[in-house]
This record gives sequence, structure tokens and C-alpha cells, in this order.
Amino acid sequence: MESSLREIEQREKMKKEKRHIETMIKYERAKICPKCGELMRYAFGEVFKCDHCGQEELTSFGKVRKYIEENGPSNASNISRGTGVPVSIINKYLREGRIEIPDGSDSYIKCEDCGADIRYGRYCPACAAKHNKDQNVGIFNSEAGEVPKHKRDAYGKMHTLDVMEKTRNKK
Ligand SMILES: [Zn+2]
Ligand SMILES: [Zn+2]
Repeated sequence: MESSLREIEQREKMKKEKRHIETMIKYERAKICPKCGELMRYAFGEVFKCDHCGQEELTSFGKVRKYIEENGPSNASNISRGTGVPVSIINKYLREGRIEIPDGSDSYIKCEDCGADIRYGRYCPACAAKHNKDQNVGIFNSEAGEVPKHKRDAYGKMHTLDVMEKTRNKK
């Protein structure tokens, strides 16, 4: 009947570990292996690796990037269909400035303040500058988007921003 202090400690430890794993999965720093069910670790270059069976899986962003690399710039719903990554996540990458809508597309995302067209980020350069001045807090560079110079009769298309990483991972 009596659960020793050690057992309680053990349980607490396991609970903490479980929470930690859940957080890792939520922020795409870990994933459950589809092959053997073990916990996969984030390796590098948007890849998860299973130490147990050697299985490798791409992160959501890795899938999006691969799709764009292989199919060229496309719109969010095409990318979503091709990768299984929800449109909301793709939009999040746009807001984070990890992918961008190329100049010349006909639809863009909007500045969260004034509604101006931007290619990526959260604010147009003018609003980003205003935020910095008003609040005296820096907006991360990636939140300050870029205004497109052209519009074209095409779907809003996207490609990845991190060219460096792209080249590095090319085989
Ligand atoms: Zn595995
Ligand atoms: Zn704005």
C-alpha cells in the first residue's frame, strides 16, 4: 500500500519526461517513428532520425521546402495538398519569413496593421518601423515583410527564403 518516496519521485520524473516529450513533438523537435513507434530525434537539416530502426522523416517545414524545390513555387493549397502540411502551418511559415511569395504573384498576405500586401512576415516595412518607434521594442527582422513590386495574373506562389540551407542540403 505504501508508495515509497522513491516511487513518487519516479512517477514525477516520468510525468515531467512525458511533458517534455509532448513539448518537443509540438515544436517539431521530436516525432514518433511511423515504423517502430520509438521517439525520433531532430537531427539536422529538417530531418528526424530514429535511433532505434534508422528511419528518417522530414519535418513539416522540410516537406514544404522539398515540395517547393521539386515543383517550383506554388500556392498554399497546392503545397498543402502535396505535402499533407495544413495551410495554417504554411501561413505560419510565411508569417515567420521562412518562405516567401515571389514578386509578381497576384495574391499576397496582408500586413497585420494596415492590410498592405506583403510577400512574407507580419508587417509591411512602414508599420514595422512604426512599431519599433511606438513601443520601443524591436520586431524581429523576419516579422518585417517586404512589399511586392509587381502583381501578375498567377496564383500566390511561394518559395523558400533560406537559400543557404537549400544549397547545403543539395546532394
Ligand atoms: Zn523507428
Ligand atoms: Zn502595414
